[in-house]
Amino acid sequence: MLVLFDFDHTVIDCNSDTHVPDELVPSIKEDFNVLSRTVQWTELMIKDCLKTCPMDPNMIILFKKLVENNHNVHIISDANSIFIETILEHYGVQSCVESIITNPCTITKHDDGTEYLMVTKLCGDNNKHSCEQCPVNMCKGEIVERMIKESNQPTAYVGDGSNDYCAVKKLSLTKDYIFARRGFALQRRLEKEISGDHVIFWNDWKELLDSFTLKNIIV
Ligand SMILES: [Mg+2]
Ligand SMILES: [Zn+2]
Repeated sequence: MLVLFDFDHTVIDCNSDTHVPDELVPSIKEDFNVLSRTVQWTELMIKDCLKTCPMDPNMIILFKKLVENNHNVHIISDANSIFIETILEHYGVQSCVESIITNPCTITKHDDGTEYLMVTKLCGDNNKHSCEQCPVNMCKGEIVERMIKESNQPTAYVGDGSNDYCAVKKLSLTKDYIFARRGFALQRRLEKEISGDHVIFWNDWKELLDSFTLKNIIV
């Protein structure tokens, strides 16, 4: 089976994009006041900060079980490559994931020692997607459609946000599975429209893990 995960609020229990400034800004302010000097965010600081993004132990078990059961696991996310790779590596699950489809990110060091985090849109001016519902930088629906066509396997999609909606609409409700996190936009939207054995709403990662077992996707 093809098993596709969103990342923020799905694999991890936070938004990696906002977690970094939220965590780093207070420490910078503190240093600034005490030492009266400018403190830069270095690559190391950002990576250390990313390691505090929480990943539930049951999520780690789920990744490992999916691989043990010969499923093909991929991440489709509007975060960026460095954030996702750093977090997966920190929790020892990087090898469980076959590919990460996300915005490319690089760290550039300048001569004066400053470091810049450069995030490029997955869909830039040269490769625009054609979906009118999705944000310009990414249509998860088009990505999912292409992956399903290429792999020709039943698919499970795990997500929480409004940008996961387009993706799950590409799935078949007879052979594919949707796992939508409760309390987030995707669930609120789906609950009004579809139901059945192939739409699963989950609260926490223990419940997500149990649902995969219940549906006989993992043993
Ligand atoms: Mg999300
Ligand atoms: Zn779309």
